[in-house]
Amino acid sequence: MQKTFNFHFWPKPFKYFEYAKLFMVTLCAIVAFIVAGIFAVLYTRTSTLMYERVREQAVTYADLIMHTKMWNYDYGGVYVEKRRGVDSNTYLLQLGVNPDVKVEGGRTFTIRNHAIMIEEISQRSEHQDDVSFRIVSLNPIDPHNMPDALEKAAFDRFARGDREWHSMERKGKPSFHYLQPLYVEQSCLECHTNQGYKPGDVIGAISITIPMTTLIKETRANKILIIAAAALTICLLLTLIYLLTWRLVIKLDEVQKRLKKLASTDELTGLRNRRHIMKRLEEEFERAGRTQEPLCLMMLDIDHFKRINDTHGHPFGDLVLKRVARRLQEATRRYDIIGRFGGEEFLVISPGTTTEEASHLGERLRTMVSQEPIGDGEHEVAITLSAGFSLARSGDRNSETLLKRADEALYRAKQGGRNRVEAG
Ligand code: GH3
Ligand code: MG
Ligand code: MG
Repeated sequence: MQKTFNFHFWPKPFKYFEYAKLFMVTLCAIVAFIVAGIFAVLYTRTSTLMYERVREQAVTYADLIMHTKMWNYDYGGVYVEKRRGVDSNTYLLQLGVNPDVKVEGGRTFTIRNHAIMIEEISQRSEHQDDVSFRIVSLNPIDPHNMPDALEKAAFDRFARGDREWHSMERKGKPSFHYLQPLYVEQSCLECHTNQGYKPGDVIGAISITIPMTTLIKETRANKILIIAAAALTICLLLTLIYLLTWRLVIKLDEVQKRLKKLASTDELTGLRNRRHIMKRLEEEFERAGRTQEPLCLMMLDIDHFKRINDTHGHPFGDLVLKRVARRLQEATRRYDIIGRFGGEEFLVISPGTTTEEASHLGERLRTMVSQEPIGDGEHEVAITLSAGFSLARSGDRNSETLLKRADEALYRAKQGGRNRVEAG
């Protein structure tokens, strides 16, 4: 028979259908939960990593500024030529120090100490869109270096011992703010004489601002990618689980049906076994009682079967049993139920069959079995069988009564010379 493969959205309900559904739904929920959890961690980590990288960048800037400042300080300041736009350091003038020197040829140079140099570089950086920095102080010599509200919060933290402060501003143009405190050293007191500082005090801070627009945009794109990957992975996994469960369920269903069939099948002949045919007899007997339809039970027995075994051996006897079973099966009608009762005896249950029809059926079975000898190339035997049948009667107490009458009819057929059908 050609096997057709029909794809159903879900296999037709079967015995363990509800369990399979529950199993699949639970598995899907667990997998979706785990995958969503993994991607949620990745999602959160994207922000954390971005924040950490930016902080590291700010620290590098702060270190660089400090190195530059110290480089200048170690040389006691550097001289630059006084050209247009290059003024002398007024603060040094106030302190009574002449910041200018005239050299041979008439050129004048003016000193740029570490504080003014960093101040000037910071002013340049403020005009750029990139990273900018400035030196801030709660008590600045230059009032332009007063901290804003955000920077003041950092000074509060420094007062409590923190050695850095950072914050992400998302309002307006998103930016990252990083402040690193500057501590008073002996050298600082040369200029900051009258401000009441002592070594170790926080004199100010390097305030770095890193614009975040591009980075946030890139991180957002990354997050969208993560969400899309999560959704895709979950969809793929759920589809896979669905398909695998579906295949498994179909296989289980097939195995279950096969097992059921095996449990009700006679191994040698492939007909229904005694247990199953007896169960069917009981069901049909009850149904006939309810519907008042006729029910015929026929018992068939191979004649002198022992002789076949004795003459040609047990394996050949088995072969005969198989062939007879096949012939009987071919001769019965679609609604007849045929089974092996035991040994070389068979039962046929025929629902809706009258006495006359049963007689015809018996004759047909008998002729079908005996019309041709059975052989395996080495041995050959002519087979006959005897049959006895009976129809269910209103007085029958149970199917056993019917079976007994069919058996008695079979006995009469044997007594009457075999190879015949008797009604009981
Ligand atoms: P009768 O015409 O009176 O029915 O005689 P019989 O020889 O057919 O009946 P009997 O009950 O004396 O013998 C039945 C034999 O069937 C006995 C047993 O060894 C044999 N038999 C039962 N089951 C099997 C089987 O599965 N395979 C084979 N090869 N023989 C079997
Ligand atoms: Mg027998
Ligand atoms: Mg027999």
